[in-house]
Amino acid sequence: MSQSGYKLRFWGVRGTVPTPGGETLKCGGNTVCLSAALADDRHLILDCGTGLRILGNELSGLKRGVPRQYHIFLSHYHFDHIEGLPFFPPLYDSYSAITFHGFRSGGRSVRQVLEGLIAPPYFPVRLAGVPSKVEYVDTDGLPVTVSDIEVSCLPLRHPDGSLSYRLQHGGKIIVFATDHEHGDEATDKALVRFSEGADYLIYDATYLQAEYESLRRGWGHSTWYAAVKTARLAKVKTLVLFHHHPDHSDQDLEEILRVAREELPATEIAKEGMELPF
Ligand SMILES: [Zn+2]
Ligand SMILES: [Zn+2]
Repeated sequence: MSQSGYKLRFWGVRGTVPTPGGETLKCGGNTVCLSAALADDRHLILDCGTGLRILGNELSGLKRGVPRQYHIFLSHYHFDHIEGLPFFPPLYDSYSAITFHGFRSGGRSVRQVLEGLIAPPYFPVRLAGVPSKVEYVDTDGLPVTVSDIEVSCLPLRHPDGSLSYRLQHGGKIIVFATDHEHGDEATDKALVRFSEGADYLIYDATYLQAEYESLRRGWGHSTWYAAVKTARLAKVKTLVLFHHHPDHSDQDLEEILRVAREELPATEIAKEGMELPF
């Protein structure tokens, strides 16, 4: 694949819980998952919400019996970011090599966290026994290179922790900053530096300002207005509002996009199927 030929695709854009139903059809109701095909046999994935199942179904349509590599970067381990994992067909394919990248949580390694979750009585199959070749990387905070993409991480402000990831190659930058609450000066400044000049900033815009101020301080999420402020300070080219609240309908999200664009015209709202070229 050419140096400039990647596309980061959204398979799930919803935060907290999947939201099937007519009110969310346009943006989609699956929880967080994005991916980029780096080659026919190599894929980079961000988070494993229910969108991962749809990605897995698409990958299942590829030629069988071919070795494939998957590098999966996990922002954190809340359900909406990992609940699609048991339903990812490459896990059950002996030709797959899957590497999970994440952070140690509560003294447990990425392996311990994930193997503890995908096991009886939560799920009938043990992750520890799947036929694919699975590896785990506990981040040391340093960048990792996958194909020609440098993946860097930055801790965000969120209960139980969360990591932002920056994908960089050939002068193009995408920052994935989900599950983050603005308001801690040091973290906010670090995120601005991390996002400086990015082509795209994908940012946690869970709440309206009024929802945040009245009830949701300390819940670990942010607002479209804080997203705009961060994008402006970091001089990002395009802001993508993400991690939509489960109670926000397509109509609500259109309204959020409308008011956000009054502040920052280069703003988009994340939808399933949307692709960011980089
Ligand atoms: Zn979340
Ligand atoms: Zn979370």
